[in-house]
Amino acid sequence: MSLQSPRRVGAGRFIARCPAHDDKSPSLSITQAGNHVLFYCHAGCTQSELIDIFRGNGLWQPVRSQKRYFSDDELDFMLHFCLVWNSSIRRGKDVSERDTEKMSSYVRVLSEFDKRRYTIVEDDAYGR
Ligand SMILES: [Zn+2]
Repeated sequence: MSLQSPRRVGAGRFIARCPAHDDKSPSLSITQAGNHVLFYCHAGCTQSELIDIFRGNGLWQPVRSQKRYFSDDELDFMLHFCLVWNSSIRRGKDVSERDTEKMSSYVRVLSEFDKRRYTIVEDDAYGR
């Protein structure tokens, strides 16, 4: 799979048909911002749906953390942050985009560096 009918609409800005839903007209905005690429689906697909799709198709290359080691305190902080985020979602509380970005980068770190804490977050997120 690749992005369908991508079209440049400005400096570092593209639109394409969204791969996460049956998209008849391009509703996916892609913006390059420094080292980051931001996706936004105007039909309402969430960042995590999009990232799942892109990751599944090898289009999403996670930025590998520069750091190789994290202290237990740092890992605990990330674990706690993710659990609080999960619980906000469960209770239908609004979460800011900034917190969601933080949470996804913490999850990425945990999945790379700390399988045990990562499993706790996943189990919590999926209610296992
Ligand atoms: Zn979409």
